[in-house]
Amino acid sequence: MDSFQTVSQIRRLLDSKQFSAVELCGYYLDRISKTDKQLNSFVAVEPERVIAKAKSADRAIAQREAKYLTGIPIAHKDIFCVRGRQTSCCSNILRTFIAPYDATIVANIAQSGGIYFGKTNMDEFAMGTSNRTSVWGPVLNPWDFDRVPGGSSGGSAAAVAAGLVPVATGSDTGGSIRQPAAFCGITGFKPTYGRVSRYGMVAFASSLDQAGTLTLTADDAALLFQIMQGSDRNDATSVGVPVSKKVTKHYPLTFGYSSEQLTDLNYDLVAPIEATRTTLERMGHTFIDIGVFDPDLAFATYYVISCAEASSNLARFDGIRFGSRTPSTTTFHDLYESTRSNGFGPEVKKRLLAGTYFLTSNSTESHLKKAQRIRRAIFDWYEKIFQQVDIILAPTTPSTAFRLNEQQNSTNIYRQDRFTVPVNLCGLPGISVPVGLVEGLPTGVQFIGPRFGDELVLDLAIRFQQETDWHQLHPPL
Ligand code: GLN
Repeated sequence: MDSFQTVSQIRRLLDSKQFSAVELCGYYLDRISKTDKQLNSFVAVEPERVIAKAKSADRAIAQREAKYLTGIPIAHKDIFCVRGRQTSCCSNILRTFIAPYDATIVANIAQSGGIYFGKTNMDEFAMGTSNRTSVWGPVLNPWDFDRVPGGSSGGSAAAVAAGLVPVATGSDTGGSIRQPAAFCGITGFKPTYGRVSRYGMVAFASSLDQAGTLTLTADDAALLFQIMQGSDRNDATSVGVPVSKKVTKHYPLTFGYSSEQLTDLNYDLVAPIEATRTTLERMGHTFIDIGVFDPDLAFATYYVISCAEASSNLARFDGIRFGSRTPSTTTFHDLYESTRSNGFGPEVKKRLLAGTYFLTSNSTESHLKKAQRIRRAIFDWYEKIFQQVDIILAPTTPSTAFRLNEQQNSTNIYRQDRFTVPVNLCGLPGISVPVGLVEGLPTGVQFIGPRFGDELVLDLAIRFQQETDWHQLHPPL
């Protein structure tokens, strides 16, 4: 069996009885048990339940009652609630938390027949770019075990890139789907804010968080998007926009591109993005230089807003309602303090302290309100750009995957996100697709669309992958 089959390939092979769902799932379970001891991309796998579900999938296929995902393995980032399962967000404070309900996307995927394989590793509370802050230990990059897979959806990215599961879900608050996708050589799609429900996804920064996917191809991302999207009465910020099929009316496209932005990249990453531009030009698309909104302002704005929202969202983890509690305390104050001191890791604590500071009355004017004004300016900048262009081509990351033991100061780590965070600040759709290897490590670029331009972004990425074969490169495990 091929380890790198896409969802549509698997669908055809299951329906034509080339193999059964039990054989397929057994194959992936076997790969997980052989490879994942080292990789550490999963935090929970459910072999018996998977095989039971695969048996019923085979019955449905035999009776010609298969839905699109019937029999297809899928893993969920440990930020999504799956009923009756541990949902730890890879934090000590939620180590014992069992979700009492399914996240909307988990339910949507299950209704389409997808077989839930288990939970993938991530940075604690999705705060990070390296997957080194998980309470369950770091994930390794399948291309080079000395390197990080990116974060925070590092487990999902590594699992798909290593062929342990064909698709996995992720969440993207400032780049957490697109950045690990680029580091692991796969496709990562972050939809427009609101098109996919956030219900049942543990909140980090509510105005930025968006659920999406890590897949081998853009074609699979489009398929999953159709299943996951839609308005949800449990999420007031979700929007129901009918999935648009008539995107080709825009072709050929006018692309926005910034030569200035390329000076802010590691030198080796310039050639792959320029080659991408050449491919797109050969496909008939045209380019105009759009300049760039100050990337340092964008990432600073992101960190003020995301930390402030996190400080408010994570206040609910107090030892009373969710997860673990540190016992033998005398007062409520002691209970909160010791539970939170023992429960959160250093990166989360740092952000909660910063966020709480930004929310105190003396600093809202100097920090939060200023950040909100800059966010609006960035939003207006993109609105203006999208009056002239259909899509923006941009780098996903400034470098390829860095080393697991590389020590960087926080500002340098946070600056890693400078090409991805503007997309979240403006609620735009963005996809990262692989565009080659640099010294044996994958690199990716982003296609960014206007709000609700998800179908156009996906369609373009599908066509781009028909012209290129970077998405067919896999790590030599
Ligand atoms: N790397 C960013 C951060 O650490 C983005 C995280 C995310 O998208 N969840 O905040």
